[in-house]
Amino acid sequence: MFDLVIIGAGPAGLTAAIYAGRARLKTLVLEKLSPGGQVMLTDSLENYPGFPGGITTKELIERLVQQVEDLDIEIELNQIERIEKANGFRLNSQDNKEYQAKAVIIATGAQPKKLDCVGEDKLRGRGVSYCAICDAPLYKNKEILVVGGGDKAVEEALYLKRFAKSVKLIHRRDKLRATAVLQERILNHKSIEIIWKSVIKQIQGKERVESIIIQDVETKLERKISIEGVFVSVGVAPNTEFLKEIINLDELGYILTDETMRTSCLGIFACGDCRKRPLQQVITACSDGAVAAVACCKYLEEN
Ligand SMILES: Cc1cc2nc3c(=O)[nH]c(=O)nc-3n(C[C@H](O)[C@H](O)[C@H](O)COP(=O)(O)OP(=O)(O)OC[C@H]3O[C@@H](n4cnc5c(N)ncnc54)[C@H](O)[C@@H]3O)c2cc1C
Repeated sequence: MFDLVIIGAGPAGLTAAIYAGRARLKTLVLEKLSPGGQVMLTDSLENYPGFPGGITTKELIERLVQQVEDLDIEIELNQIERIEKANGFRLNSQDNKEYQAKAVIIATGAQPKKLDCVGEDKLRGRGVSYCAICDAPLYKNKEILVVGGGDKAVEEALYLKRFAKSVKLIHRRDKLRATAVLQERILNHKSIEIIWKSVIKQIQGKERVESIIIQDVETKLERKISIEGVFVSVGVAPNTEFLKEIINLDELGYILTDETMRTSCLGIFACGDCRKRPLQQVITACSDGAVAAVACCKYLEEN
């Protein structure tokens, strides 16, 4: 029986483990792939406080893992598929292993949805980005394109215009899904071009993105556009599918919590990108992890 099992070893889960370890909770971290989470999709972080010039994601995660292991907390590789209430909680893994814990912190994060077009994987991090806030300064005076039609895509296009030489937005429909005020802002923006009713078929480039092939969804005609950056903003999916039965999620699947990271189920806490929150970044994931672990300690003391 563990005091606490943390599911997910991204920045949120690892930070929760550091705080839990320092509170001397008997803690286990379970991770389905390898520690690090989404940040491992990019090479460096330039906006993490305290590291002028940036820090590589590899170094930051290695340091976090070291800090967790120094507290004698194990990070075990396994994917949790089910949580049930049973004298605390029983967690079942993909390979039918069972774990028992008095409390659980969910830190399973999210993943950006991909376009699934030719060249996307090859050029990821080399002109293909999934995070405007993270990567915008790298595209100063460059010609870029944002894919999507929702709030996030429009916000990103408007934000990127502060850096880039030119911004195009490509959307598969003839109308944006974004809220009215954002639509007005982008439609009235003289220097952002919108390419309607089109999808990206291919992203091309030897070392970095050089061009894309787009297709008109009605005429099926294809054309090539020279571009230096593609920002994919077609949605993010929280890794919460397996939690539907036990805690409340919003309509997009994000976990609903209060400000101390408590979920709708007493004894289960959630932190980081898997929960509904206004900013999905490493710094806020770490902050969530710390708050969740402290709230969890309090819960264990009181129960
Ligand atoms: C390409 C890209 C670039 C980014 N750049 C920056 C940046 O420059 N600066 C910045 O601050 N933020 C950046 N972000 C955002 C940042 O990565 C996230 O906000 C942050 O990683 C969230 O941390 P997390 O721990 O909540 O979730 P995640 O990082 O998503 O970690 C969740 C972990 O849980 C594991 N997991 C999921 N389900 C299970 C399960 N069922 N069982 C066991 N384990 C599970 C996953 O494998 C993963 O390791 C970027 C994101 C992307 C995609």
